[in-house]
Amino acid sequence: MKYLDLVSTYEKLENTTKRLEMIDHLVDLIKITPTELIDIIIYLTLGEPSWIGKPEIGMAEKLAIKTISTSFGVPVKKIERQIKKISGLSSEKKAIDLGSYVGTLKGKKQMTLIKPKPLTISQVYSTFENMRTYSGAGSQERKMKSLASLLSNASPKEAKWIIRTIEGKLRVGIAEMTMIEALAIAFTDEKANKEIIENAYNVRCDLGYIAKELAEKGILAIKNIKIQIGTPIRMMLAQRLATPEEILEKLGGKCALEYKYDGIRIQAHKDGEKIVLYSRNLEKLTEQFPDVREYIQDIDVNQLIIEGECVAYDIANNKFKPFQELMHRRRKYDVDKAKEQYQVKLFVFDLLFLNGKSFLNESYLERRKNLEKLIKNNGISTAKSLIVDSPSPFHEFFDKSIKDGCEGVIAKSIQKDSIYKAGARGFLWIKFKHSYQENLGDSIDLVVVGGNMGRGKWAGLYGALFGAIYDKDTDLFKTTCKIASGFTEEVLKTFMELLDPFKIQEKDPRVELPSEIKPDVLFSPNIVIEIKGDEITLSPTYSAAFGEFRENSGLSIRFPRFLQIRYDKNPEDATTTNELIQMYQNQNKK
Ligand code: ATP
Repeated sequence: MKYLDLVSTYEKLENTTKRLEMIDHLVDLIKITPTELIDIIIYLTLGEPSWIGKPEIGMAEKLAIKTISTSFGVPVKKIERQIKKISGLSSEKKAIDLGSYVGTLKGKKQMTLIKPKPLTISQVYSTFENMRTYSGAGSQERKMKSLASLLSNASPKEAKWIIRTIEGKLRVGIAEMTMIEALAIAFTDEKANKEIIENAYNVRCDLGYIAKELAEKGILAIKNIKIQIGTPIRMMLAQRLATPEEILEKLGGKCALEYKYDGIRIQAHKDGEKIVLYSRNLEKLTEQFPDVREYIQDIDVNQLIIEGECVAYDIANNKFKPFQELMHRRRKYDVDKAKEQYQVKLFVFDLLFLNGKSFLNESYLERRKNLEKLIKNNGISTAKSLIVDSPSPFHEFFDKSIKDGCEGVIAKSIQKDSIYKAGARGFLWIKFKHSYQENLGDSIDLVVVGGNMGRGKWAGLYGALFGAIYDKDTDLFKTTCKIASGFTEEVLKTFMELLDPFKIQEKDPRVELPSEIKPDVLFSPNIVIEIKGDEITLSPTYSAAFGEFRENSGLSIRFPRFLQIRYDKNPEDATTTNELIQMYQNQNKK
């Protein structure tokens, strides 16, 4: 298969913002892709799952520029100026991305040369694969050489997309959910089958693998996808309801309550001696938590996948420590020192896999029973729990959880169908937090899609950020408010650094921004922040949940205040349209 086939799909995707057209282009691409290349096509379009932990294909932009400079005989400074790396360029002269610039250079050069033979997908991908493996002394030169050779054999269009790929900036507006829909149509002619594919992806979070299974074995094989130990399972999530009475009613009059610990969620995989720890957004945390790794190692079974909340904890005095202490454990240097200084404890609450057997389809009580048998209370405890069937013990247990230093409780269904629903936010788990009681409602997680520059003491920093929720049905991010309070200078400085790689010249195709709103700077959707507002309000400006409650109105958040950066969330883990709708309904019930 020619690389150009993929490139022409990229070009078509780049030129439309209509989701249905995008899906059509992807379907066409999938249909012409031979089975043996389908996973590669998926990885080249979406990127590879981060949990694989392969070194990035890419090279630093500086190095790419250096390669281009040598290959095309253009001074580095000139290239940097063209892609607006040097400030002070007049604003009318629109900066272009490095990929498009190289495409133009290549176009000029090619007129005088013999046309190169089209590159193949395998050729391009294996060069990328090789580039990843270079490390240590001389690796930069080797990377530059590989890239230069690929570029010298590329047509202008190919060159443009090679550069964008190594920069990790395809900007074609495609994410997992859109790809899943395209796979359903391409392989089964039935859009509705996207649910089956999504369920499989939730259990085995590798869309390249899923696509290959689909191509080789069909949709039935996908229905019975098996857990692969080491490959993360997308985490089951909780809904929210406003009162214990409503929760009990929803859960059939009786449920299990568990303490809701305030820490970071960990999914631990044990395969013999090998332990891997995954965060909420499926990033590896194994290196940062050698103590948790040891606790898991001590559990006397060969294969295991369990989940729990890792909290900052004073082990000698059996006391919770503030959540902020955990932040010191996320860094990758001085891990041993941080381990001593900031102790943690893991409170496990679920069992997903044990010695070759999946527990996903077992009921809550069955999973819990087996989990309790495994945990011997050293560095690990099972989450405190109680079965209740009326509001009064519910309230008592909830109050106790707050007194003990937790955030509230998670009520869990104990009915026959109370399976572990990977990746789903359903009513089998319902969270009930302290903050709901105080009538403050829940916090909201927003993706940062724009920023305004600050003034006065915050000159040179962002003074306000624009936040968007995630709309799963359309796979779009819908802007819902401007956040201008709750920041400290330190946080704003962090934002300057954190958001810098995601600055873009034109609005990202996956972001919906009301035309009246013109942020000074736009960002591609990457960074998630947690905010709290006074209330959710109807707004004629914002398009989140547009028309859901009133014609020509969406939902916005009044007086949003920044709480924290959610390093453990991907943009698709932000609050969704459906959640915002529910939060609005809950708020209006009170
Ligand atoms: P979510 O994970 O639902 O997107 P969030 O990360 O903002 O939301 P919360 O809404 O506060 O967190 O609550 C859900 C989280 O609570 C879970 O993801 C998990 O990390 C944590 N948690 C703590 N204790 C438990 C428990 N006993 N059972 C399940 N989850 C728990």
